[in-house]
Amino acid sequence: MAKYKHIKVPTDGKKISIRGKKLQIPDNPIIPVIEGDGIGRDIMKAARRVVDAAVEKAYQGKKRIVWMDIYAGEKAFKLYGEWLPRETVHAIKTHYVALKGPLTTPIGGGFRSLNVSLRQIMNLYACVRPVRWFKGVGSPVTHPEKLNVVIFRENTEDVYAGIEWRKGTKEVKKVIAWLNKTMKTKIRADSGIGIKPISVTGTKRLVRKAINYAIDRKLPSVTLVHKGNIMKYTEGAFRDWGYELAKKEFRTKIVTEDELWSKHKGKMPNGKILIKDRIADSMFQQVLTRPDEYSVLATPNLNGDYLSDACAAQVGGLGMAPGANIGDYIGLFEATHGTAPKYADKDVINPGSLILSAVMMLQYLGWDKAAAMIEDALQTTISNKTVTYDLERQMAGATKIGTSEYAGNIIKNMK
Ligand code: NAP
Repeated sequence: MAKYKHIKVPTDGKKISIRGKKLQIPDNPIIPVIEGDGIGRDIMKAARRVVDAAVEKAYQGKKRIVWMDIYAGEKAFKLYGEWLPRETVHAIKTHYVALKGPLTTPIGGGFRSLNVSLRQIMNLYACVRPVRWFKGVGSPVTHPEKLNVVIFRENTEDVYAGIEWRKGTKEVKKVIAWLNKTMKTKIRADSGIGIKPISVTGTKRLVRKAINYAIDRKLPSVTLVHKGNIMKYTEGAFRDWGYELAKKEFRTKIVTEDELWSKHKGKMPNGKILIKDRIADSMFQQVLTRPDEYSVLATPNLNGDYLSDACAAQVGGLGMAPGANIGDYIGLFEATHGTAPKYADKDVINPGSLILSAVMMLQYLGWDKAAAMIEDALQTTISNKTVTYDLERQMAGATKIGTSEYAGNIIKNMK
């Protein structure tokens, strides 16, 4: 792309590049940022302030993020007359790491969802959602501290691939007729049809990422979560291909749950990662009853979507739920919630989810010191019981404050 129409490329930053299959991070990387619609305007301001303060404090001016505004959603529509301009996608693809606020899904804009489109166009195949509890946050469970999981949700396939036909259309009639005639199925004529593709490629690259993550962070286990007892050739295959990959590519680093008993008498060998699998419905029980037995969870798309919100509910809700969409190199970091329009521009919403997504981004850059500083300061702020409305309503004796004051307190609490 020769020249951007509305994006202004800062002159005081450097582009992230790739060398030897690794991201090369300069001390002043240009990071594209989509502010987002609705509460995006409140939380992005807060997140940028917190990140800038942490980086400044951690590296004393030796490192700095140079933000570059790029546009999607309502702002893009006003500027370009389109919801997802080509130059926005190009900017993310060529800068590799970006931060994003929530986007309104345009009604009749030709998009199923802007967010899903962004993930599919850039092949961001892993949706990564860490869920942990910060001490003091109200929770519906007795021991929220026992839940500390990172969910790797496949992001491009499954019933979310967007292959479906409406009841009564000529397309659905064709599909039903073909299935009933050729495959001898008995699908009712008044059905809508959706297709659930799950491939070896999609599964293995996702599970590979999950296992590498567990290795890098010395985590104890990776659990494949599936509904393979019923959907044998999609969800069951996800489980089988996951184990196959683990044994083939990580043989010296992993032990499967079968091997744990057949070869190690139930005692996990030191330094190895346990690969296990659970049926999805059982997993929903286990994250409530025995959450401390789980660490990294690798799931097909739909299971992961449900499971990550259910887990987030145990640790304070959507205001505390960060996420990232990651491909081979590109990382697009975003809160898991939407634009919550009723709170937009009111300076009341919890910026925690986006701030924690930015923490994941700093870790992705290898700037762990700044990331840890933010997490510690967030914990102190919560322990001081001055929090936004969503946390205040779950915490006895807490004082409610607004978005910008909350961000200011996090900054004050950085050590
Ligand atoms: P939402 O924006 O996620 O908001 C639903 C509710 O979740 C809010 O009313 C609020 O609950 C709570 N919440 C959300 N963010 C919060 C935060 N930062 N802190 C505390 N609580 C928070 O869902 P929606 O209203 O269904 O969707 C609105 C728009 O967002 C739609 O256009 C949708 O398509 C879009 N969306 C975008 C993304 C994305 O960009 N990734 C994701 C999901 C939805 P209380 O009122 O109970 O406090």
